[in-house]
Amino acid sequence: MQKPKYVLGIESTCDETGAAVVQNGKIILSNIIASSADIHRKYGGVFPELACRRHIEAIIPVVDEALQTAGVSPDQIDLIAVAKGPGLIGALLIGMNAAKGLSIAWKKPLIGVNHVEAHLYASMMDVERVPLPALGLVLSGGHTLMLKILEIGAYEPIGTTVDDAIGEAFDKVGNLLGLPYPGGPEVEKLARLGNPKAFPLSAGKVKRSPLNFSFSGLKTAVLYAMKGNVDKAGIAASFQETALRDVAHKALLASQTFDCQSIILGGGVTANQRLKEIMKETFPHLPIFWPPGTLSLDNAAMIAGLGAHKFTGLSDPLDLEAKTRILIV
Ligand code: AMP
Ligand code: MG
Repeated sequence: MQKPKYVLGIESTCDETGAAVVQNGKIILSNIIASSADIHRKYGGVFPELACRRHIEAIIPVVDEALQTAGVSPDQIDLIAVAKGPGLIGALLIGMNAAKGLSIAWKKPLIGVNHVEAHLYASMMDVERVPLPALGLVLSGGHTLMLKILEIGAYEPIGTTVDDAIGEAFDKVGNLLGLPYPGGPEVEKLARLGNPKAFPLSAGKVKRSPLNFSFSGLKTAVLYAMKGNVDKAGIAASFQETALRDVAHKALLASQTFDCQSIILGGGVTANQRLKEIMKETFPHLPIFWPPGTLSLDNAAMIAGLGAHKFTGLSDPLDLEAKTRILIV
């Protein structure tokens, strides 16, 4: 089968409405994102109903802009790829129904892809050869996952969080520190001004599961550290250092246990510069693949790229379901 030349990707799993056109599975011709983070700020987190309303308003303009920026017309599109989950159900349904509507109107095949898998794929999209098996690390607002990647599409679970996702912990700590939502980038900024050893914090250990994560205790420890203390930068730096070193430490243990030949990262938390430093320091012996530029945050280019890679010539049915919880393993 001839691989699709132009793929339209659609992303609406959470609070970003995205559309992108990707050529030959790797050249990003456009990658448009309309975020509703501004309206969630006063609630300190994503307000699902408001995110859905914004998706409804944004979806068609975002698709139009993606086509225009790419200089590609609807009749040139060979495939429509959409994030089918995991995510907020109302949000997913908007992207899914837009994709189905366009698939009918333009008579184009449709493929649903897993958003979490697409986060990892973002780091491999433009790479000639990834040494396998690889350790996959998804660090996002909804997920903290370690996987053994045998090949794209074949994964074995290694570890996950038993409570908060790492991005969620950053956001909640941001909230405790009085920083605007989303807290992750704000905590990183504040942490640059603080001493990472100011507060002796420790990351959660999961009984008999050294490769699982727990961040809720760390978040509570931050709450106690805040009591009577004004060194917010010290708290931010100590929290960030503890959380990121925990990830790197468990990733090292996992890579040794499962004989991984490279590290592939995905998800919003990979935008963190301190994480990059700690990972480089921890893995001088292995190649590390990061999502390029804006592909660490939710986007539709990674959805289009993975859709192009997975498409076998057969369209997904029009009763393809959006799912709040789907695993990639
Ligand atoms: P995602 O769930 O992949 O869309 O990523 C969003 C999550 O990534 C949110 O929890 C953000 O707070 C977090 N995030 C984004 N940038 C950073 C950063 N520089 N440091 C830590 N977390 C971040
Ligand atoms: Mg995401």
